[in-house]
Amino acid sequence: MHKDVKEILYTQEEITQKCKELGKQITHDYQGKDVILIGLLKGSVPFLAELSKYIELDVTFDYMDVSSYEGVESRTITIKKDIDQDVSGKELLLVEDILDTGKTLSTVKAMFEERGAASVEIVTMLDKKEGRTYPIEAKYVGYEIPNAFVIGFGLDFNEKYRNLPYVGILKEECYQ
Ligand code: 5GP
Repeated sequence: MHKDVKEILYTQEEITQKCKELGKQITHDYQGKDVILIGLLKGSVPFLAELSKYIELDVTFDYMDVSSYEGVESRTITIKKDIDQDVSGKELLLVEDILDTGKTLSTVKAMFEERGAASVEIVTMLDKKEGRTYPIEAKYVGYEIPNAFVIGFGLDFNEKYRNLPYVGILKEECYQ
């Protein structure tokens, strides 16, 4: 275990098992449809890679990089990298590492709906329900977690720890 990790929450084996379950459910729900998996950079990359192995459909991958900003009366997101295709009439599955306040995903979801997607759903590896301030839920959730700062399997602190093969809680002394 990495010296900065206080506790491992989910091992690589557990995450793989969870991806198998989610993949099976997604395969069932989208029978006969083509799905675009849209990963939000950078944290979703390991989860998207693992999950997609267990989706038995003709999926394609795309990636988007956004930063969100809240103004006085509205929230806006800056698109640093947009996806590469037209989504009108397509089934989209937004893939995220962790859903917290919901700010990023509620804005991105609304944007794809405006672009004319047939459906826009969310699959998230982790869900911090207590942190939610925007009215948005993921259709597929790996694990619901309490309000702790987690790292690994794509999740970073100052860009570090994304490569850890498990999800763990970061020691407080690392960010205090
Ligand atoms: P939201 O827009 O839902 O508040 O933001 C979700 C984003 O916040 C995630 O993609 C992630 O970048 C960041 N985030 C929220 N909670 C955590 C956490 O516990 N650990 C890490 N590493 N990032 C988090």
